[in-house]
Amino acid sequence: MRSGTEWTMGHAAPVKCTVVGGQWPQQRLADAGYSAEQVCQLCHAAPGTLCHRHWECDGTAALRRRSVDEGVVAAARSPAAGRPLWNRVLFPDPSRWIQPPLNEPMTYWFRVPADGIFSGIVYADGSGLYPTMPGLRRIGFAIAALDSRGHLTGAAYGPGVHPMQAVPVAELLAFLVLLRHSMAPLDAKSDCQMLVNGFARGRMWCTNTCAGTCMLHSSLISVLP
Ligand SMILES: [Zn+2]
Repeated sequence: MRSGTEWTMGHAAPVKCTVVGGQWPQQRLADAGYSAEQVCQLCHAAPGTLCHRHWECDGTAALRRRSVDEGVVAAARSPAAGRPLWNRVLFPDPSRWIQPPLNEPMTYWFRVPADGIFSGIVYADGSGLYPTMPGLRRIGFAIAALDSRGHLTGAAYGPGVHPMQAVPVAELLAFLVLLRHSMAPLDAKSDCQMLVNGFARGRMWCTNTCAGTCMLHSSLISVLP
């Protein structure tokens, strides 16, 4: 952050204190019973946490603007930011270099079905990489159609374009893409119980549960005849 002749022992000492967890912002004082006041004493607008002091407080904004660029501040404020890494200035959290999920819906055709339309027995599925790491997880979908002899007659796949990178969302996206590229007779197969429940219970259930996926459920219902 600072370099060359600007860097003095006056800066090094607070950094060392921060790195080793020696800072006592207001929230920590309150948690430990040393103060009845947990609100930041500079701005009085939020709990006085270390994160607030370093990355959010209006009272430290001028220092922040002078020392770090806006991209660093945005990354530090991200919900996915690793708090100890940012708040103790250990090093920039590597999650800032993770590519965000794609935002342009794409459907890639492995095999285009007859007339470009799925029908008959069709399997739709969603999946995700890094299932145990929400910040890294990326989802996608795939669709495959088989004829009566089990031969592949059509297949498509694509990224799961949605703010919520979770496998159930990928399952819904798979089915949504299928419905947009299919016609009767259609014997659609899915291994997603939430999807099956959605079709069985209808629009009200789909739009009143599972916040975040209700819009997708609603989209599914809307493309049905
Ligand atoms: Zn403040």
